[in-house]
Amino acid sequence: MAVTQEPKTVTILGSTGSVGCNTLDLIGRNPDAYDVIALTANRNVTKLAEQAKIFKAKTAVIADESCYGELKDALSGTDIRVAAGQQALDDAAQLSAEWVMASIVGAAGLRPTLSAIRRGATVALANKECLVCAGDLMMHEVRHHNATLLPVDSEHNAIFQVFDFERAESVDSITLTASGGPFINSSREDMATVAPEQAVNHPNWDMGAKISVDSATMMNKGLEMIEAYHLFPIEPDQIDVIVHPQSVIHSMVTYEDGSVLAQLGAPDMRIAISYTLGWPNRIETPAKKLNLKELARLDFLEPDQIRFPALRIAREALHLGGTAPTILNAANEVAVIAFLEGRIGFLDIVGVVEETLTKVETSALNCLKMVHDIDSQSRAVAQEIIGRL
Ligand code: NDP
Repeated sequence: MAVTQEPKTVTILGSTGSVGCNTLDLIGRNPDAYDVIALTANRNVTKLAEQAKIFKAKTAVIADESCYGELKDALSGTDIRVAAGQQALDDAAQLSAEWVMASIVGAAGLRPTLSAIRRGATVALANKECLVCAGDLMMHEVRHHNATLLPVDSEHNAIFQVFDFERAESVDSITLTASGGPFINSSREDMATVAPEQAVNHPNWDMGAKISVDSATMMNKGLEMIEAYHLFPIEPDQIDVIVHPQSVIHSMVTYEDGSVLAQLGAPDMRIAISYTLGWPNRIETPAKKLNLKELARLDFLEPDQIRFPALRIAREALHLGGTAPTILNAANEVAVIAFLEGRIGFLDIVGVVEETLTKVETSALNCLKMVHDIDSQSRAVAQEIIGRL
């Protein structure tokens, strides 16, 4: 007799973004297996309303309160509950979905992600900025509330798949692979004049604007080092970065006996997302299967820390700990927006981050209120630096 399984209840924080849409793509391929509890966005009313109708969401939340009326109109005649604002976002995360995708971009995702963690949900974490700005505190909450955190970032998802958590002491190091971004072969002179459209044009991955710029400066890999430090039982010096332009090896773990375990796949986020959606089972995805004969070769290079100083700066922040990563993240978010809006040049992004780190005093990070305060202070300092530029 066939056993019918109850649909898995899911909520997607940031459903209108690149990760959110990829998640819904997977859900849409097997709609009977899922029950969508809540979908959220920042301002994109049209897409949110469309998704909420297609996926029969129970609740749709728009973070920007000024968009409430528009969303309410767009969903009139349906029984989808509509809400707006920060508190509504937290409330959506608290609704009883078993599985929550945390795919809001930036530190703005911290509060709702914590709300899901605090009710012991299974949280698929794409929003790396959360862990960068509040890693120790967030991991404490995960343990305290017995929540399950599943890494979505392809590198961390790869490591999660091959890391022997039972014998963590046998791990020698982990290696995060980096594509090198669109400017892998550009000189600093060339990078000084690149336009936002060039920076968001990633060679291998189709992603949101912020992470695409982070990949271009390689700050993304810096943020990922900090993310990895919090997700896995390892020390900062055990985290290595290698440039691998084909983005086929998503990351690897080296064990003390010299064995290296890696996860490979096409550069398609649906593979990593599906791993967390089906976890602990694997589910089918439409991602292209890897054809190594067609690929023929895989290349590896040492990251160039002169052309891409973000890696060094992020590593220093990781070593410093406390509020340093919070400052780094806030300054980077502000600088990336300024670059996308044409207010500063590409090379200024990392310059703003470095200068902010010298201007905001670092200390231990004791509570979530401090994360908020340091984040606001760092954003103000970064804005001031940008104003001078
Ligand atoms: P996008 O910019 O494509 O999407 C961001 C989502 O967050 C959108 O739904 C957006 O809503 C919402 N959002 C933005 N700002 C706020 C806010 N202040 N409050 C509430 N919601 C907000 O980002 P990505 O999907 O590319 O990335 C999401 C996260 O996942 C990032 O942390 C990124 O680093 C990480 N990640 C992304 C990968 C990718 O392939 N894209 C790969 C690995 C990690 P709206 O549409 O209305 O603006």
